[in-house]
Amino acid sequence: MTSWPAIDVDLPTVADGDLLQAALTDYAVAAIHETRTDSWRVFFHTGAERDRARALLAADFPYANVRAVDVADEDWAARSQAGLRAVRVGSILVAPPWDVPVTVVIRPSAGFGTGHHATTRLCLAALQRIDLRDRSVLDVGTGSGVLAIAASRLGAREVTGIDDDPDALGAASGNLVLNPGAAVTLVAGDVRSADLAPADVVVANLTGALLVATARRLRQLTAAGGRLILSGFMAAEETEVVAAHPDRSIEHRAEGDQWLCVTLK
Ligand code: SAH
Repeated sequence: MTSWPAIDVDLPTVADGDLLQAALTDYAVAAIHETRTDSWRVFFHTGAERDRARALLAADFPYANVRAVDVADEDWAARSQAGLRAVRVGSILVAPPWDVPVTVVIRPSAGFGTGHHATTRLCLAALQRIDLRDRSVLDVGTGSGVLAIAASRLGAREVTGIDDDPDALGAASGNLVLNPGAAVTLVAGDVRSADLAPADVVVANLTGALLVATARRLRQLTAAGGRLILSGFMAAEETEVVAAHPDRSIEHRAEGDQWLCVTLK
């Protein structure tokens, strides 16, 4: 097994960590791990460089404990990097493969759903709690199409967005153009009467009153074993909204700016 030349440095004062980091800029350092708040493990590419650094650090930090160690390569680099997240620099996002963000482009319009309202954000969060890959999704009251496009980006097999407001549908079609590859079918009509197929996940960000009025229909439209995400209501309406689905239980509940979102199963 290969091993990495390293030094362990224990400093008596935590604040000296900055001095250590500064001193290390003179050396070809492969990585620095803070093992405790007052202790560092510094990896080098070569043993010679490690020995040079160790001697000089020992001289520069006479009160520190500086030890040479050879660290077995147990894939430490991969392990230490597994927690890395995407970084954004200006308009460029550099992301590791496990943290590739989902982008939804929505042109602000008079229609509801720029992503700035708490209920939209709660629904976006609720959608991400479900593995949508290969599932069908129905977005009831799609507005700008934001939830439908997000569901598609999250891997849903097929997504339908319905709205009875022609302006909302106009905005949603425009946004579909701005999100190439998003597979969303838009339906014009009232959810209560439109011809719709049941979906594995139904999301309805409406109002408390509408959620109660459409409860039976929303139930019919949720496939057996599926999820129903409801938002657009406040705490005072919660009992009534949830009671309209006596056969379902709350799998998740979230609150934001006094708005609620529940996922029923
Ligand atoms: N889904 C978006 C927009 C929610 S706003 C988001 O979460 O941000 C609610 C939308 O539901 C509006 O666009 C409104 O036109 C639509 N809507 C209200 N009642 C409806 C009904 N009975 N059938 C279909 N759409 C309806």
